[in-house]
Formats: sequence, structure tokens, C-alpha cells
Amino acid sequence: MGAKDVLVVGGAGYVGSHTVRYLVRKGYRPVVFDNLSTGHRASVPRGVPFVKGDLLKPASIGRALEKAPFAAVFHFAAKALVGESVENPALYYRENVTGTLNLLEAMLAHRVKRIVFSSTAATYGNVEAVPLTEDHPKNPCNPYGFTKWAIERMLEDFHAAYGLRSVRLRYFNAAGCDPSGEIGEDHDPETHLIPNILKAALNSRRKMKIFGDDYPTIDGTCVRDYIHVTDLAQAHVLALDAMKKDVHCDAFNLGNGNGYSCMQVVEAARRVTGRSIAVTVTGRRPGDPAILVAGADRARDVLGWSPAHDSLDEIVETAWRWMVAHPRGYVG
Ligand code: UDP
Repeated sequence: MGAKDVLVVGGAGYVGSHTVRYLVRKGYRPVVFDNLSTGHRASVPRGVPFVKGDLLKPASIGRALEKAPFAAVFHFAAKALVGESVENPALYYRENVTGTLNLLEAMLAHRVKRIVFSSTAATYGNVEAVPLTEDHPKNPCNPYGFTKWAIERMLEDFHAAYGLRSVRLRYFNAAGCDPSGEIGEDHDPETHLIPNILKAALNSRRKMKIFGDDYPTIDGTCVRDYIHVTDLAQAHVLALDAMKKDVHCDAFNLGNGNGYSCMQVVEAARRVTGRSIAVTVTGRRPGDPAILVAGADRARDVLGWSPAHDSLDEIVETAWRWMVAHPRGYVG
């Protein structure tokens, strides 16, 4: 087995591409597998092999798994929009759950026995206590969260039955971009808070919509825990190290433990960009929980994770750097 050979499924997407870059920096040999439905070929570094394929076409996964004797798979490929999952749950169950099942079966067939899986704080749903620890009850309040929780359960069963090792990383709100400004967040349509605020900063004719100000929070807008994407990348590599030792099937929260309301994020963006950003409050977005804030002590204690970008302004600043350099995203 090539200890440094890893397959990155969904490696052309936002978190995946940042992790690929981090893996290369750490001396790994990633191969990227992506269907480019939302990812960008241009985000894959030169010299990193790229396989265009789809998790719903098992033969293409088999072809990718034959590229090297992989030590592990990092699995980022998923549909990941709360609102879209409420409108079109079939898409989410098919792409996320069936797609992952196909991947796991292909891994077993090719004797690849470790996976780091991108899970989410959306598995918790409406929270009973903040900060959230990993054992908090799972009551997803949208289909997206349900699909990720179903996959987590599948991974536990696959560990018990087939010895497939897994670490599930429950991201809170992935944000920011590689400090180089060379790769970043580019979704079409963009639905995430920080890039949408920054688009409004870039184009004064664009008004930023805030979805609801009647939540039981500090100013009525939803509270989230924003975590820098390169800190997420670091956790993936640590998870692989841990799986080689005594972590065989486990889940970890990844967040800074600081909750910011949507309006506080707007304020941070005004500070960072020096621009006035027009905001209008509209109705709630279906499926949004009021508050998600991580308790991430286990990731620090067990994986040795140490996030490097815990200031919101710094996170927003790296996203702004990318947006100013690439106002039209990868196309531009
Ligand atoms: N949000 C908003 N306007 C936008 C995008 C997002 O008010 O244009 C709010 C959204 O309702 C949620 C928070 O910002 O309360 C974070 O949403 P995002 O889509 O960035 O991440 P999620 O928490 O859904 O993973």
C-alpha cells in the first residue's frame, strides 16, 4: 500500500480543493475524482492526476481506485445545500446516500480500508445545548442533514461488519479561502452567507438578503460557527494519521466554538472591505436551524487539531482576497 497515495473524491470542490493543496504540501500524492457538477477543473493543481467520474457510475469509481494502491479515500463529493435539499430531496438521497454506498462498495472490492468523510453540523438539527458535543442527539431538520446522518450510520455498520475504518468530520460553516488567493469558493448559484455578502461589497447595486430576523438569537438572525477551510483541510490529514493508529470509527466536530449572527458577519465584512454593504431582511429560509456552534474539544484532544484562523475578520479577509482577485470565479 502506498502510504502517501490518497484518492480525493470531490477534490475539485471548495473544501476538497483546499484539502488537495494541503495534502500536496504535506507530501501526499492525491488523485482527484470529481464529476465537475459543482467543482472546477482549474482548482486541481498541475501535476495532480484527475479522473472525471461519477459516484452514480460505479465503473468510473473502479477505474479511479485502480490508479494507485490507495492508503485512504477522502470523500467530499456531495450535494450540500440546505434549501435545495428541502425542494428536491430525491436528488440528495440519490447523490449523497446512493453515491456513497457505491463508493464504499468499490472501496471494499479494491481493499481500501480507510475513509475520511465530510459530515456536517446539520446532522444535529435543532439544538438543545450549545456548544454542541458529538453525542448531542441527531435530529436533522432538513433532507441534507438526514442524508449525511444516514451515511454516518452506514459507516458505523461498515466498520462493524467489514472492518472499514472511518472518521466522520462534522463541519460547522466552512468559510474563507486559501491565503494565497489562488483557489477559493466558487458556486453557481452562490447560496452561502460570506461570499454573498462579499459579492454585495464588490457590486454596490447588489443587495444582500438576510433570511429572517425573528430567531431566538442575539439580534434575531441565525448564529453559525465559521471555520476556515484550510483548518478543515488540516483536520482531514490528522484524521488519516489517527486512523493508522487507534481511531478506527469515530466522529469529530470541526468549528471554532464562536457563534456569529448573520448581522455580525455583515459587520465584519464592512470592517474588512471598508465598503458599505446594503442589507435587506426577508423571510426565513426553510430548513435553517437558529443556532449551530461547535464544541470541538475532541478534535483538539484526540486528533491534535489546532485551527490557525479563529478570527472572523481574518476568515472574511481571505475570502475577500480571493473574490477581489477572481470576481468571476474560476471562469474569469
Ligand atoms: N444566509 C443569508 N443570506 C444568504 C445566505 C445565507 O441570510 O444569502 C443565512 C442562512 O439563512 C443561514 C446563514 O446565513 O442562517 C448561513 O447560511 P449558509 O448557506 O452560508 O450555510 P449553512 O448554515 O446553510 O450551511
